[in-house]
Parts: sequence; C-alpha cells; structure tokens
Amino acid sequence: MTEETLKLTPEALEAGSGMFKLMGDLYPLCRSITGNGLRDSLRMIQRHIPLELHEVPTGTPVFDWNIPKEWNIRDGYVRAPNGEKIVDFQRSCLHVVNYSIPVRAKMPLAKLKEHLHSLPDHPDWVPYRTSYYKEAWGFCLSQRTLESLKEGEYEAVIDSSLEDGNLTYGECYLKGATQDEILFSSHCCHPSLCNDNLSGMVLTTFLAKYLQTCKLRYSYRFIFAPGTIGAITWLAQNESKTSRIKHGLVAACVGDKGKFKYKKSRRGDAEVDKAVVHTLKHSGQDYAVSDFTPYDYDERQYCSPGFNLSVGSLTRTPHDAYQENHTSADNMDFVGPEYLAGSFQVYSNVLGILEQNKKYLNTNPKCEPRLGKRGLYGAFGGKKDANTYELAMQWTLNFSDGQHTLLDIADKSGFRFEVIKEAAFKLLEHNLLVEAGA
Ligand code: ZN
Repeated sequence: MTEETLKLTPEALEAGSGMFKLMGDLYPLCRSITGNGLRDSLRMIQRHIPLELHEVPTGTPVFDWNIPKEWNIRDGYVRAPNGEKIVDFQRSCLHVVNYSIPVRAKMPLAKLKEHLHSLPDHPDWVPYRTSYYKEAWGFCLSQRTLESLKEGEYEAVIDSSLEDGNLTYGECYLKGATQDEILFSSHCCHPSLCNDNLSGMVLTTFLAKYLQTCKLRYSYRFIFAPGTIGAITWLAQNESKTSRIKHGLVAACVGDKGKFKYKKSRRGDAEVDKAVVHTLKHSGQDYAVSDFTPYDYDERQYCSPGFNLSVGSLTRTPHDAYQENHTSADNMDFVGPEYLAGSFQVYSNVLGILEQNKKYLNTNPKCEPRLGKRGLYGAFGGKKDANTYELAMQWTLNFSDGQHTLLDIADKSGFRFEVIKEAAFKLLEHNLLVEAGA
C-alpha cells in the first residue's frame, strides 16, 4: 500500500499547497554547499519564518573538516559545431557539475566526452553530479542527447568562480516555556531536485510557521544547512547548546507518495523514537521502521558518538529506494501537495505527543478510586466510545506511578496517545493525578 490513506486535516491541506508553492519558487535556484544559490534559497525561506543567516569563512576548521571555497556560477553551456547550445545551464542547473571550476575551451568530441555524464539506463533523465572536494569540471545531459552528438569541435563554457568566501547556513529559533529543545534539520545543498531535498526544506519551514502560532512547552531550533559540512559546521560552532536538544528529526524525502520510513536514533529507545513509531502505528497507513545506520543524511553527524543526540530520520521513500533520486526526474511531478500535507500531519502529530508527554502520579494509589462518586463514569458521555475513555482512565491511574509517561501508557494499553491524554486531563481536573516532579 503506497497510496495516501491518511485523513488530512484542513490545516495540513493548507500547509500542503503552501509547501508545494514554495518548492516551485525554490526549484530553479542553483543551490550548492556554498554560494548565492544557497543564500538566495534561505532568503526565500526568510519570507515565511524568522530565519537567521550565518556566514562561516572559507578555511575555518570545523572538527576534522575545513570550510571549503565558495562556489558561484552564472552560466554554462556546450556549443556544438553547428552553433547550437546542446547543453545549457539556463535551462536546468543540473546540466553543470556542481562545483565545476571555470572553463572556456574548444575541443573535439572525444575529449569533451571525458567531461560528460549521463544515465544509459534512463536515457531521458539528466543526472545530478558534484565535485566538491576535487577541482574538476563537467556537464550532465541525457543519454539521448549524448548519442545524438556528431564529430567535430565543441565549445565548453562554464562561467563560475571558486574563491575564498563563506558557507551559509540558516537557523530559526522559537522560544518555548522551557530551554529544552526540539531540533529539526534539513539539508539544502541540492539544486533542482524536489524530494531530495526541497521537500525537507519546505516541510520544516511550514512546521516552524505553524509552531509560531502555538503555545510551546519546548523551544524549537530549525537548521537549514548544506548536507554533511553544514551540520558539522553547526555542531562545531554550537557544541555548548547541544545538551539542550532533547529530541530531533532530520527531514528529507517527504514529498513523494511512498509510505513513511522511520530510522531510529542511535540510542534506539529515545522518546522521539517512541513518539514517531506510535504515530505511524496509529496512522492507518503502512510504514517501515529501522534501526540507526551511520549513513544517509545528517543524523549521522547528530548521532556521532561524541554527540549521540536523540535524533531520528523520518522520510517517505528513502533516497536509496527510488531511481529518480539525484536525477532530473526528481522534479515537481514526482512530489505532490497532498503528500507534503500528509508528512506535515505526521510530523505535527509527533510534536503533539512530545509537547504533551509527561509523567504523572496517582494521588489515590491504594486500590482504585471510585470514579462514579466523582462523576467520572459517563464523563465522556458525548463520545461514542465512552467506554474506551473509562478503560483509558484505569490504565492511566494504574501506571501513573511517576515512572511511566503518557506515551508509555498509551503503548502498553494499545490506545492512541490522544485517548490517554484526554483521560489524564479528566483525572487531573478531579485531582486524581498530579504531575510527577512538579
Ligand atoms: Zn541527496
């Protein structure tokens, strides 16, 4: 089952169309791990949320790495012997290998071919290629175009610069009632590619936008940074803040129609792991869960042993499970507003749990209290499933021993978190529970 069966709320649907529109605006920009395409993308996000841009100079050491030179590109093309531009950066920024050094040269086809990349198995798709840490140049084109090229002299032009500059990352901090934080991180270094990574960028933007309207228990930190080097940079420059991060999610590949896939934090039993698994289990959709692996996205930095933060990765189809990944086929047709809306809803349900998940103490722990005398039988009379809530009250009373969270009780009982939470609120009203440690 891969089709969307999640019943979407009006808020999620509205966010879905907003996210899809923002994705369309971001799509043409030529992002990279540094440079103006990345900067302009973050500025576009600034129109939606209070995002602070940070610039880190070339050469700055960040743990075992250094900030690379800044790359910028204005144009790039290959002109055929007949004068036609057979590859043109102005049509798609995927056509130039990301981080290509400048070139302006004429050469025979055989020589040019050493710098051309295509996908023989998908003759109409253009691949996405980078050369971040090796100074090189190249072009990407469809196999069909490549096969149509005739012998002769070709002109290759890349009007780019690779110079000392800065790496840019964006950070949005929303202050809640406590200093404890929930972290969201999305990489934003890929050019015209939608599911990986524009979907993560627009989802976290709209989550931040939504959270600004909410009364928050946790403070929230949203990081928009180039993959790998960006997360490493943030961690190197903000190490003292990391102890505040209680839960976190890395967001990417959340715009396609595939089922949800959760990769747990390195800890494996973190509260965020339980909250995501609980949400997916009760979503009515098929889903998959796996243990932590030290690759894929920036969870591998947040979960490196020196940090070991409670950060998991919640995607739809993972990047290595769809052929369109890192090709021109990961475009606006591959994603949809309804799928973004579904992801928004699942992410906000996870946050709903984390915000409300507390431990309580039963104030009447010796034998069960008389609920009838307090008017608690039939207290949920307006609800069709009043009996469910009465059972939920018994579970909540029994396990509110200061050791179990509401989520633990929900998982033990098999009830949805929302049901246990409502039962707990009712018991709190009647002084049968108090917050543990409060
Ligand atoms: Zn990628």
